[in-house]
Amino acid sequence: MTKRAVIGITGIVQGIGFRPFIYNLARSHSIRGWVLNNEKGVFIEAESEGGNIDHFIQDIPRLAPPLARIETFDVRLTEPYGYTHFEIRKSEETQEKFVLISPDVATCDQCLSELFTPHNFRHRYPFINCTLCGPRFTIIQAIPYDRHKTTMKPFKMCPVCQGEYEDPSNRRFHAQPNACPSCGPSLELKDSQGQEVPGNPVEKALDLLGKGTIIAIKGIGGFHLACDAKNDKAASSLRSRKFREDKPFAVMCRDMEEARKHCEVNQEEERLLLSVERPIVILRRKKDSAIAHAVAPYQDTLGVMLPYSPLHHLLLNGPLKTLVMTSGNISDDPIAYKNDEAKSRLRAIADYFLFHNRDIHMRSDDSVTRVFEEKPYIIRRSRGYVPFPVKLSSPLKMILATGGELKNTFCLTRDQYAFLSHHIGDLENLETLTSFEEGIEHFKRLFYIEPEAVAYDLHPDYLSTKYALSIPDLPKVGVQHHHAHIVSCMAENGIEGDVIGVALDGTGFGTDGTIWGGEFLKANLMDFTRVAHLKKVPMPGSSKAIKEPWRMALVYLSAAFGDEAQDLRIPFIERGNLKKWDLLKRAIQGKINTPWTSSMGRLFDAISSLLSIRDEVNYEGQAAIELEMIADREIKETYPFYLFKGEPPFVIDPTEVIRGVVRNLTEGVSNSKISGKFHRTIARMIVETCEALRKEEELNRVVLSGGVFQNILLLFLATRELREAGFEVFTHHLVPTNDGGISLGQAVIGHMRLFQM
Ligand code: ZN
Ligand code: ZN
Ligand code: FE
Repeated sequence: MTKRAVIGITGIVQGIGFRPFIYNLARSHSIRGWVLNNEKGVFIEAESEGGNIDHFIQDIPRLAPPLARIETFDVRLTEPYGYTHFEIRKSEETQEKFVLISPDVATCDQCLSELFTPHNFRHRYPFINCTLCGPRFTIIQAIPYDRHKTTMKPFKMCPVCQGEYEDPSNRRFHAQPNACPSCGPSLELKDSQGQEVPGNPVEKALDLLGKGTIIAIKGIGGFHLACDAKNDKAASSLRSRKFREDKPFAVMCRDMEEARKHCEVNQEEERLLLSVERPIVILRRKKDSAIAHAVAPYQDTLGVMLPYSPLHHLLLNGPLKTLVMTSGNISDDPIAYKNDEAKSRLRAIADYFLFHNRDIHMRSDDSVTRVFEEKPYIIRRSRGYVPFPVKLSSPLKMILATGGELKNTFCLTRDQYAFLSHHIGDLENLETLTSFEEGIEHFKRLFYIEPEAVAYDLHPDYLSTKYALSIPDLPKVGVQHHHAHIVSCMAENGIEGDVIGVALDGTGFGTDGTIWGGEFLKANLMDFTRVAHLKKVPMPGSSKAIKEPWRMALVYLSAAFGDEAQDLRIPFIERGNLKKWDLLKRAIQGKINTPWTSSMGRLFDAISSLLSIRDEVNYEGQAAIELEMIADREIKETYPFYLFKGEPPFVIDPTEVIRGVVRNLTEGVSNSKISGKFHRTIARMIVETCEALRKEEELNRVVLSGGVFQNILLLFLATRELREAGFEVFTHHLVPTNDGGISLGQAVIGHMRLFQM
């Protein structure tokens, strides 16, 4: 009996080879009818004998192209129409299209094998791609996603490419970036004076990299600065030219085998390294790795990624198996992504430039991930993930959330989707601000979002806050920083109702005008009350106290020992730090540039300085990162601390922790043991505070968020102990726990406050 099925599919189903897939699948099941793209997704009419139809329908989700993300799949059976064959019909053009856009995708196996097949006409062609792989988000200028609305527009396809593009059975059917050596983009190698270097650009670049030079290489989302990762001299000079003292560089390894030579890689880490998103994965470094010291000084980890563009594969299949591939910028500026801009901005760093002439429309840094509890734990969500949305449990109005200051991302919502932007960077200069503003406009156009409200951080000095407040005629909601952290974690976990939110962080503006960061909130998607926090201490010098952990060490020491601090026989005192105390004391007493803070990040800084690990940092979080790194994970003991219960908010006083650390130091206990014990203590603090709050508030769900939870040891200990104490624990995985995630929380809270009251 002939049946007809009408099938509607939404999700990421366009621009990733879905129609040719359906076409070929239909023919293999003797299906008649048609497929087309419309404003919602893919629409199919399929007609055949009953059994064929059933198999066809079952095979769609089962065999869909790897990049497809099916969100909904509707099937309706109806009367046969009498089709005679199967065809791909022309897309329906409508007024307001809203489709999901694919992120950029790592080179697929089929393209890779063509890349290295000598007789193939794309042999060693650095821009080979197909519907299963290649650039997407970074080259799209407008929608619908069609070649003339991407930066591929200037390249007119040759007859061969055009033939593939029009052939429904071909892997390159409607592959918008389709190209070959005769019609597509090409490479050009130039020296820092702008003179072209003769010869094959890839061969020549490899030759130069082998000699220890630094090359700016244009990639998918921007420029990388590359050098031989095993050459300490090259890596050191890259460091000094980039004004980047210690912050680790990422390395790109040829393949898994090479990655294993330098790092321990577990199963989930391997899966993540090989995933189509190809993020940087932070791995435990092997002691005998040949990677140069200057690549990641003072680290026991290494950020590793595998090649994700054809050019990367060509570069790493020569004599060099590992390259430093760090963002093409000076210190914390945004990554360079235009040829002219790179020429001027990176001239003082790069000896050579490997350019190509396919423009990057949206810059997008490499994403950075770790693995926690056998799942990805995303620290920087950008290239490969963006602009895939975070799916929410219920639909939202269209909200613009402008995020924080450091590691800024913005977020735009529509229906059940939260479009969390690519990593914008630290909103501290005009360049980043421009990139932030352009990014917002671009996302609004791509997803047809016209915000009905704006949500922003309470900090009055953040450029993201000022930007939000400057938007005319829209309702605005200021959101407390740590509430945003907690709700961002709730949103990604799809939970609502009241929870205990543990937001441990460096800095966030509190509702009382002080700086928060060691917060326990009774929170839901709309509101919160602060139910416990770390005891407040002065932060003499304000932002200086963040860059100079010795300041916080002195503050905590004097709180614990008063004048007796001078008699302490510990290296921190012996190297003369106490001499600076008078200065700090005057600032504190005179209330000069001295905010008060309950920040957990500052307590980690203080311990790091007390242990003589870091008195001053040269990148955000360095003191705490190096403290985590040395921690003895076997230690079971903890330091005592006080939890003052009375009227909420409860206050956690760490003075005894400081006394204990100092006592251990004078007894000659190793830094490694002290750090391990300190981490255990903070985990204990979290559990005991949550237990006290559970009694008070009758809440059993704990949500962990905030920058301090980038510390995997603390996250691990806290999660385990909370579960042992019977709590249900929620952590981040897809959305960063640092300030890169707060725009999501802001958007949800903004919606709740304005539209759900
Ligand atoms: Zn491909
Ligand atoms: Zn061609
Ligand atoms: Fe934060």
